[in-house]
Amino acid sequence: MRKHEIIIIGSGAGGATLARELSRKGRDVLIVEAGEDQFPLPLTIAKSREDIGIFEVFGAGGATVLCNGNGVRALERDLEGMGVKLDGEYRELEAELPIAPIAESLLMERGSLRLEEILRPSEYRMARMPKFIDPAKCVGCGMCSVGCPHGAKWDARVFLRGAVSHGADIVYNTRVEKVRIVNGLAVGVDAMGPTGMVQMDADTVVLAAGGLKTPVILQKSGFDNAGRKLFVDLCEIWSGVTPEIDISDEPPMQLVYMNMAQSRRISLCTVFSKNKERLRYYTGSKADRYLNNNWMGILVKIGDTNEGGVMADGTIFKAVTPEDRKKLDEGGAVAREILRLAGAKEDSIVKFSQPYGGHNGATAAIGDVVDTDLRTEVRNLFVCDASVLPVAPGLPPVLTVMALAKRLAKTLA
Ligand SMILES: Cc1cc2nc3c(=O)[nH]c(=O)nc-3n(C[C@H](O)[C@H](O)[C@H](O)COP(=O)(O)OP(=O)(O)OC[C@H]3O[C@@H](n4cnc5c(N)ncnc54)[C@H](O)[C@@H]3O)c2cc1C
Repeated sequence: MRKHEIIIIGSGAGGATLARELSRKGRDVLIVEAGEDQFPLPLTIAKSREDIGIFEVFGAGGATVLCNGNGVRALERDLEGMGVKLDGEYRELEAELPIAPIAESLLMERGSLRLEEILRPSEYRMARMPKFIDPAKCVGCGMCSVGCPHGAKWDARVFLRGAVSHGADIVYNTRVEKVRIVNGLAVGVDAMGPTGMVQMDADTVVLAAGGLKTPVILQKSGFDNAGRKLFVDLCEIWSGVTPEIDISDEPPMQLVYMNMAQSRRISLCTVFSKNKERLRYYTGSKADRYLNNNWMGILVKIGDTNEGGVMADGTIFKAVTPEDRKKLDEGGAVAREILRLAGAKEDSIVKFSQPYGGHNGATAAIGDVVDTDLRTEVRNLFVCDASVLPVAPGLPPVLTVMALAKRLAKTLA
C-alpha cells in the first residue's frame, strides 16, 4: 500500500470524526479498522480480572453504532481547567448531528411525560436527555443500543462516509499491532490483515482504537506509561414495578438526573429493556410481577476512580473500590427514591445487575501519556479517543471524544 500522510487507527467516535475533518481539509488519510464494515455490530463484553464486564464494539463506527444517542458535554470544565477549551467544537457538533433534548413527540402521556409531572415538584426533577436522534425517523422501538434499524440515530458511519467521499482510504479487518518508531519518529504501523502481517507507512500516526485497545498498541510500541490507569464509568440498574407509568414505547435513557453530575460525578437516567428472558433472570422470584405489569429502571452511572489498568497482552484490571461503592450506593438511594415517587412499592424494587462499565478511558490520559494537543512524546504520534480523558466523566462521553477530535484536526491540518 502506498504511503499516506496520516494513518488513523480505528473508525469509532474519535477516528471517524478526525478522518472526516482532515479529509475535508484536503489531507491524505488512511483509516485502518480492525473490525468489519457491517451493520449492526455485535456488542463485545471484555472482563476485568476482577470480573467487571466492560463494553466494547469492533467495526465501522465503533461503539457509536450501539450507543444510546445521548449527547452531553462531559468533562467540559475539567478539560478547560487543563487548558483544553472545547466550546466551539461542541457547538459545531451540536449543530451538525444535530443534538437537542429528546423530542416531546417521542414521550408518552402515560410514560415519561407522566413521570416528569410527578417529579417536577420534588428535588428529583429529571431533565430531557440531549439526543442525536431524529424524531421524524424514530419509532420508539427501544433498539438504540443494538443498532438503530430506522436510521434515526446518528452514528460515526455518517462521518466515515463523509471522509471517504472526500478521498480518505479505509481498510477493514486489519488489526494494528504496533506503531513502528525509527529514530524517535513514527514511520507507520504493523497490522494483521486478512492475508497476514502488513506494513503501512505514513508521516503522522493517530491512535483511535478506543480506551482498551489503544493502550495495548502503545505498550507494544514502547510506551510503558500507557494503560497504568483505567476508568469505566461503573453502572448499576435499579428497577421497580410502576403501575401508573409505562415507558416501554419510548427511546431508552429519555430522562436524566444531573444534580450530582458535576459535584459527585454521578448521573441517573431512565432505562427499559424489552428482553423478557433477561428481565426474568434479573427479577428472579418477582419475575411474574414484572412481566405482567409496567416497570421502569433507573440506571446509576458513576465516575469511578482511575484505579485499574490494561496490560500489553490485553489483560484488564478493574475492581469496585470502596469509594466507587459509596458513590454507587449514593446514586442507588436517589434511584430508589425516584422509583418510589413513580409509584413503585418497596417490595417491587430490585437491583438488576452487577456493576458493569460502558465508557472506558484514562489509559493514555492527557498529562500522563499525551499533552494537551493529544501528542505523545514521539512528536508525530497522537492519540484521539476516549483513552485521553483524564478522569471518569460519569456521563456519556462520546461528544467530548468527538470535540477533541475536531480540535486535533485543527492542529494537524
Ligand atoms: C452499548 C453502548 C452504549 C453507549 N451509549 C453512549 C451514549 O449514548 N452516549 C455517549 O456519549 N456514549 C455512549 N457510549 C460510549 C461511547 O460510544 C464511547 O465512549 C465512544 O464511542 C468512544 O470512542 P472511541 O473513539 O474511544 O472508541 P470507539 O468508538 O469504540 O472506536 C474504536 C474503534 O477502534 C477499532 N479498533 C480497536 N482496536 C483496533 C486495532 N488494533 N486496529 C484497528 N482498529 C482497532 C474498533 O473496532 C473501533 O471501531 C456507549 C457505549 C456502548 C458500548
